[in-house]
Amino acid sequence: MDFRLSEELELWRKTVREFTEKEVAPYDAEMDRANDLPWDIVRKMSESGFFGVPFPEEYGGAGMGSLAAVITIEELARGSASVALTLDAHWLATDPIFMFGTEEQKKKYLPDLVSGKKLAAFALTEPVAGSDAAGIMSTAVRDGDYWILNGTKAFITNGGAAETYVIAVKTDKTKGARGISTFIVEKGTPGFSIGKKEDKMGCRGSVTTELILDNCRVPAENMLGKEGEGFKVAMVALDFGRVCVGAMGVGCATAAMEAAGRYANQRQAFGGPLAKLQAVQFKIADMAMGIEAARLLTYRAAWLRDAGQRYTTEAAMAKVFGAEVAMSTCKDAIQIFGGYGYTRDYPVERYLRDAKLLEIGEGASEVLRMVIGMNTLKELA
Ligand SMILES: Cc1cc2nc3c(=O)[nH]c(=O)nc-3n(C[C@H](O)[C@H](O)[C@H](O)COP(=O)(O)OP(=O)(O)OC[C@H]3O[C@@H](n4cnc5c(N)ncnc54)[C@H](O)[C@@H]3O)c2cc1C
Repeated sequence: MDFRLSEELELWRKTVREFTEKEVAPYDAEMDRANDLPWDIVRKMSESGFFGVPFPEEYGGAGMGSLAAVITIEELARGSASVALTLDAHWLATDPIFMFGTEEQKKKYLPDLVSGKKLAAFALTEPVAGSDAAGIMSTAVRDGDYWILNGTKAFITNGGAAETYVIAVKTDKTKGARGISTFIVEKGTPGFSIGKKEDKMGCRGSVTTELILDNCRVPAENMLGKEGEGFKVAMVALDFGRVCVGAMGVGCATAAMEAAGRYANQRQAFGGPLAKLQAVQFKIADMAMGIEAARLLTYRAAWLRDAGQRYTTEAAMAKVFGAEVAMSTCKDAIQIFGGYGYTRDYPVERYLRDAKLLEIGEGASEVLRMVIGMNTLKELA
């Protein structure tokens, strides 16, 4: 077994890291205050080819695969969880078009999404149903060559900023998860509008809004996948999304550990730097171990995906573990900073606010533990 990344991947990591240090990290605090999407960074990411990393060259992508994609997210998250989340949510909607789209849909939508010329958003959650995704209430009713969509979507990342939306609704209310279908809905479609923008605790440089479907007329050819296949479309999309969230956890935790390490080496107490205190060394040790383990879980899940193998359990593991490592690392980083850690003069309080999302979005840790537990028990039967 060889744990080294290929030269190509190492070079890509260096490219994203340099970009993040110059174009992203210096603006993260400003994004947090502004509570808005940094369009200039999105444009620069598009010019640098970040949006196309996992997609084939045929559709304008770089064809670099899932491992390169998670490295991209990890490095971006080291500078800004918000920017990483924007790209993660974009892929969450772009990937199902690639996986389930007809050739016409792929040709129509992928070039602009893969190049980052347009942003995409993926809409499953509703005010009444998040974890219980099969309980969504939005509907689509067939009307000749159209479907008429009604309902409200909640907490949609890139809402309003995106031009292309992948939206899950019920086409048959009697069939539970099997009655869900997904549609590609373009911004500007009559009956489709953007609702409330959330004033979030963290990841404030990423926009989150409601979506309103009010007799929204969508051409029948915009159904993504087969009728009744929407739950599967969503779960396949979320598998990849969860690996990306695991990578966000690694990036976020790394940023917090680096900040805490720098501070501990320089802050003096009891006649020497904090770094000389064993209690501080132990915290840094736990951070380093957690990050390394989370990174391995994340890369392995991405590797399984690239190898064409099932990776639902591994994706869930990468996500739960990465999110929890990010939370514990950010919490301990604040402790190492002491009183200063509790102020906005230092970034660690922001990192903690950002990291909390990772335990909730794309499957709460409790729900993913159920997935991991059930799948593991099946293997043990
Ligand atoms: C910033 C942000 C961005 C988001 N972006 C998107 C997006 O782009 N697209 C999208 O579709 N959704 C998005 N979401 C929604 C997100 O996926 C949901 O918030 C998440 O799935 C949880 O659903 P919920 O909020 O309805 O919580 P609920 O389902 O009401 O659950 C609340 C809590 O109850 C517990 N719980 C729930 N079910 C169980 C269970 N079976 N066993 C044990 N405990 C349980 C968990 O602790 C959970 O956190 C986003 C959310 C946020 C906050």
